[in-house]
Amino acid sequence: MAVKQQVSRALTLSCLVSSLLLHTCRTLAEELQWDVNGYVLYCPCMGRFGNQVDHFLGTLAFSKMLNRTLAVPPWIVYRHHTPPYTNVHVPYSEFFQLEALYAYHRVISLEDFMEKLAPKYWPSGQRNAYCFETAAHRSADKKSCPMKDGNPFGPFWDYVGVEFDKSILFGGISFSAYHQPQWMKKFPPSEHPVLALPGAPAQFPVIEEHVALQGYVVWSDKMVKEGEEQIATWLTRPYVGIHLRIGIDWQNACKMLKTGDAGPHFMASPQCVGYNRQTALPLTMPMCLPDLAEIRRAVKLWVKKTSASSVYIATDSESHSKEIDKIFKGKVKVVTLQPDSAQLDLYILGRADHFIGNCVSSFSAFVKRERDVHGLPSSFFGMDKPGKPNHKEEL
Ligand code: GDP
Ligand code: MN
Repeated sequence: MAVKQQVSRALTLSCLVSSLLLHTCRTLAEELQWDVNGYVLYCPCMGRFGNQVDHFLGTLAFSKMLNRTLAVPPWIVYRHHTPPYTNVHVPYSEFFQLEALYAYHRVISLEDFMEKLAPKYWPSGQRNAYCFETAAHRSADKKSCPMKDGNPFGPFWDYVGVEFDKSILFGGISFSAYHQPQWMKKFPPSEHPVLALPGAPAQFPVIEEHVALQGYVVWSDKMVKEGEEQIATWLTRPYVGIHLRIGIDWQNACKMLKTGDAGPHFMASPQCVGYNRQTALPLTMPMCLPDLAEIRRAVKLWVKKTSASSVYIATDSESHSKEIDKIFKGKVKVVTLQPDSAQLDLYILGRADHFIGNCVSSFSAFVKRERDVHGLPSSFFGMDKPGKPNHKEEL
């Protein structure tokens, strides 16, 4: 009896201590309850990591709005130039704590949903896909949702072992809060328990109301350990972290600015020009594609302002570490790791004493949001004070 009590107390304690409250306890009890309020499933099928996170934040909010549990998908990592030369599906919890999301809303990993709930509650034969009529009109029979058409769609649903049996179309409705009542009326969970969507029920870039949800995206212990080890090994505080988004794909994207085809709102730019289209500041070329002179100027400025001992360069291509090193004549340590894992770069940038990002990049936006949550300062190339354009004389 006493032993039994001790064991159960130890279990309760371990549940609490591990802060994995629901998760650990549930796993111990080997029982996952089906949520009668229903589920949201989606493929993070647009863009790479930065885009996927923007969509994730919006989908988190959408799931809460419909009071459905979110089946958190894996990240899709494109490894087309390095082994395994294909898409890799990385469970959410590899990079972030799934449990930290519980503080905002009910979630389950898509992998757990498929393994532990789907066989009983969402069996083959009852797997409906939901999509816009306009999306279905592009299919051969004009009434099927394009759930598995092409890459990354097919490989994603194959990864979780899903074939869809039927398509349910909708129109005249958006994912915004305005249409919440329509969603509830159209798709009551009793008749539509699992809302499986071809893409995220969210906008890109993330809307202003959802930016703060970044606070629930908390690095996994494994990432913290790895990140802190790298910081301790290579960097001396204070350090300035910079994100260079200057590769060929980006050069092409930023050409849109020259032709005037893009307004101030271009990809992630609301983060620095402002979300309101009427009052948005101009988006300049150095903000999209800083040249070496602008990179030098900004790095020099912030190293001086923060009395930095080192600079960390994260880059999509070239690091310019030699050129940056020259500015400081050996007095400041210039580091670039160019790791295989983009998340390691994000971690190191997130912990810097100052961060200089690219306003248009959603990869930079991840870092900016995370730093805002923790009250850490950030600026952008071409914009030293977010929300205030650089004056010519400062350039
Ligand atoms: P965006 O295109 O800048 O809005 O951001 P995305 O994340 O959607 O796509 C850019 C992708 O390029 C990232 O997901 C990374 O895979 C890669 N990338 C861009 N910048 C960096 C960087 O500084 N470090 C690393 N490791 N990868 C980067
Ligand atoms: Mn992109």
